[in-house]
Amino acid sequence: MPDYDLIIIGGGIIGGSVLYHLAQLGYPGRVLVLEREDALSKGSTALSAGGFRNIWTTPINMRLTSYSIKKLAAFQDELRFPIGFDQRGYLFCQYEENFESAKAYGAEWARNGVAIEFLDAKEVEAKVPGLRAGIDHIDPEVNEILQMKPIAGGVFGPECGSFDPSAAAQGYFERGLEGFDGRAELRLNATVKKLRIVDGKYRGVEMADGSLIESEKIVVAAGAWTNQLLEASGLSGEDLPPVIPLNRMLFITNMPPIEGFERIPMTIIDNGVYFRPEGPNLMIGRADPNTPPGFDTTPDAKYYEEQINYYMQERIPGMERCRLMSMWGGLYDTNDVDHNAVLGEHPHVDNLIFATGFSGHGAMESPAAGLALSELLHYGEYRTLDITPLSIRRFWENKPIHETIVI
Ligand SMILES: Cc1cc2nc3c(=O)[nH]c(=O)nc-3n(C[C@H](O)[C@H](O)[C@H](O)COP(=O)(O)OP(=O)(O)OC[C@H]3O[C@@H](n4cnc5c(N)ncnc54)[C@H](O)[C@@H]3O)c2cc1C
Repeated sequence: MPDYDLIIIGGGIIGGSVLYHLAQLGYPGRVLVLEREDALSKGSTALSAGGFRNIWTTPINMRLTSYSIKKLAAFQDELRFPIGFDQRGYLFCQYEENFESAKAYGAEWARNGVAIEFLDAKEVEAKVPGLRAGIDHIDPEVNEILQMKPIAGGVFGPECGSFDPSAAAQGYFERGLEGFDGRAELRLNATVKKLRIVDGKYRGVEMADGSLIESEKIVVAAGAWTNQLLEASGLSGEDLPPVIPLNRMLFITNMPPIEGFERIPMTIIDNGVYFRPEGPNLMIGRADPNTPPGFDTTPDAKYYEEQINYYMQERIPGMERCRLMSMWGGLYDTNDVDHNAVLGEHPHVDNLIFATGFSGHGAMESPAAGLALSELLHYGEYRTLDITPLSIRRFWENKPIHETIVI
């Protein structure tokens, strides 16, 4: 008889959500969580911008995030754990052509229950005090390089906002472990070297210290390191999800000296630059489309100066006086085929369940992903949210689910 019924690898928000939801369902087994770091959520979870939104181009993402937003809103009451839930909205500022196609897409959002307000340029400026929607003030020579256009309008999502993913992960683990009443155990400083897979069946994990721990089933929630582990376990080719680690950086500056700026929504402007208040400061980011895959997360101040700050300065007066105070890099587990999570049981390895490829939206999808996977483990099927289309099979069957609003 194996030592445990289930092992979960990963002390981030996804591992935590699976553990918590299993406890909620009354999963009767013994569970072991293995995390290689000396504390929970030291991976991508702690480095996240913590944004949540249900504005997507794929109905499955709209469903997963709309469900998750409701659960994040109720998190503090249900788990008795504060997570800094802040429904301040998301505002996508758009040039004429994108704004027109967004308006044309409006019916699809409405059909999927996503609340959207279309704002004209004046209303965009009212939402973000100080923001200049026009470009008349920009030196034409400078704009030769920046290629900025007037902001024609904005898509505003009032249900969107931000939260603290590390706090949520902590809450999930604390309440999850309590819920198991001694039948679940968290082991830190515990690095898994590989999964033991024999004849297409998962058997146990081989630890870095040489020990073997057996379990009936395994959930690999190792974020951007998932493929490393699956590869070390002998999987290759199409048996690996198409997921690569990509460094994504966040920058903290002073708040621009504009009255009311601390109440702005998460705002996305030219070149994919996004920003929102973070306490008394401003958090700013932009996904660099030229980032090579890799595990290096060194942040780069030059990138901020050249690819972000010019756009910020042209749109927000006073930004030129805002100092870069801190910055960090962290990994996206990017699915470079369709930019959506790859979830569920591995069709070629019995009892191996994995969750990766969230491509920058794993924190906000953690309530839905954790619930769905725990239903799969407990009932043997998805009951509340059918995430079957997100299986790795979709790549084999050439049925990708392309998400295009990825920041
Ligand atoms: C800069 C940045 C901004 C982001 N912004 C957002 C956002 O606004 N909204 C959003 O929803 N998402 C965002 N994300 C993505 C989000 O943070 C991730 O999708 C989410 O945290 C993934 O959680 P996870 O539990 O899968 O992974 P992680 O938090 O990375 O957890 C995986 C854990 O597995 C452990 N592990 C790995 N390998 C092993 C091993 N061999 N043995 C033992 N343990 C192991 C790691 O140490 C780690 O703790 C952002 C990410 C970054 C980097």
